[in-house]
Amino acid sequence: MLNLVRHNDNSRKIIQDGYSLLLVSHVSELKKEELTLLDGFIINTDSHVFSKEIIKEIRTDANLKVALKPLFVNSIYHLPKHLQVQIDGSVELTMISSYIQRIVAINNRISSLEEPKLVSHEVLIQYKTLAYLYTRNTRLTPAHSRESLIGYEFPFISLFFKNTEGVQLLESLRKVTEKNYLSFKLQDYIHLCKSCSGNYLNFRECCPKCDSIDIAAHDMIHHFVCAHVAPEKDFKKEEHLECPKCDKHLRHIGIDYDKPSTIYSCNSCSHEFQNPGMLSLCFDCGTENKLEELLQKTIGNYALTQMGEQFLFKRNTDQTLNKNGHSENLSSLNINLFKLLLDQEIKRVKATNGNSFFASIKFQNSQLQLLNKTAKKALMKEIGGIIKSYLKDTDILSSESFNRYYLLLPETTKNQLVRLENIDYNLSKLLSDNLVEEQQKIDITIQQIKGKDLIQNYFS
Ligand SMILES: [Zn+2]
Ligand SMILES: [Zn+2]
Ligand SMILES: [Zn+2]
Repeated sequence: MLNLVRHNDNSRKIIQDGYSLLLVSHVSELKKEELTLLDGFIINTDSHVFSKEIIKEIRTDANLKVALKPLFVNSIYHLPKHLQVQIDGSVELTMISSYIQRIVAINNRISSLEEPKLVSHEVLIQYKTLAYLYTRNTRLTPAHSRESLIGYEFPFISLFFKNTEGVQLLESLRKVTEKNYLSFKLQDYIHLCKSCSGNYLNFRECCPKCDSIDIAAHDMIHHFVCAHVAPEKDFKKEEHLECPKCDKHLRHIGIDYDKPSTIYSCNSCSHEFQNPGMLSLCFDCGTENKLEELLQKTIGNYALTQMGEQFLFKRNTDQTLNKNGHSENLSSLNINLFKLLLDQEIKRVKATNGNSFFASIKFQNSQLQLLNKTAKKALMKEIGGIIKSYLKDTDILSSESFNRYYLLLPETTKNQLVRLENIDYNLSKLLSDNLVEEQQKIDITIQQIKGKDLIQNYFS
């Protein structure tokens, strides 16, 4: 039995066999509903802009159980490919009963999941993506899209990254694959601009000497009789070809002469060459990239592994993700104790010539300064948790205030400092996502610990 209940001017609900689906034509209608009580959504607008907003609002809902709910489009509307990959298909409103089985299957799987607590922003997105694949029993198959700067749109996970963050998105998928939660199958290679990571590139041949694209190709002519080889233009005499060396007419290709190769000449610097260079112009930012400067990335097709499925149902996901065993309630080290350990480390470096690093992490934010003491303490704990999730077992963290942290990284060489980049990226993201102010800048200073260092120099 189909039942259309008119709630207000725009919002309507379809109740079928006790399941309720919300018809949504504008994102504002979602704000009037208790979303957790619904069994799914049907986009009901021909506006692609509105559809995109609705998809984004639902899929990035803070409540995982809402974010994963079945989401369809009314079959009378057609969504472009980059939006189509983000929904569960189209439905005919007169035949809702034939979709109920699928809706129930997805909702049953959703109810078996438990959202992880206290994990970093990045890990939470990874968890949600695995959960998305699990509830749909599907693969993560990206679709070509001119809307995406990297040329591909991934179901679900793409909604959590800005268009300019394609490289970070791929990096995040690479990490999950490295943990064996997803299997990887190569789908494509993409090449991205070195400055903006865009892939709308125009490839042209150029002069290898001056990089000008104003070059011309000429056939080379080999005169059999006298063995002279020169560009065709040197043989051109009005309407016919004449050898500049022996003055004979060239009549038949293959009998008098042949064209063994091509030679290029540059109209800017007159350089002549056989192998032209290649440049690719980025249409988005105007940067000329040499081929070797382009970022090559792999585009994969991913599937949830058995390990990934197990991970979804682990009770304390935080500890399994951070295999280094930093537990959340382990608070950071008291600053005085930290200074003592740092002092010892300086002595150890002096005695052993060891390689260790000290890092300080700071950020300024006027909104956060206004928080009360308890809120600042909670924030400090959350930020400490994120920092720790990227540290090695032997690293030591201390915090002086909610916006000032110190790290001691013993037995670490310069090329092992990538964990600081991860911290930088994830902290900026956490702050930028949660604060209305412009992009948040995290200030990380790194110092190699030297045997002759004085401890007070580190805390200026
Ligand atoms: Zn560019
Ligand atoms: Zn000749
Ligand atoms: Zn040139």
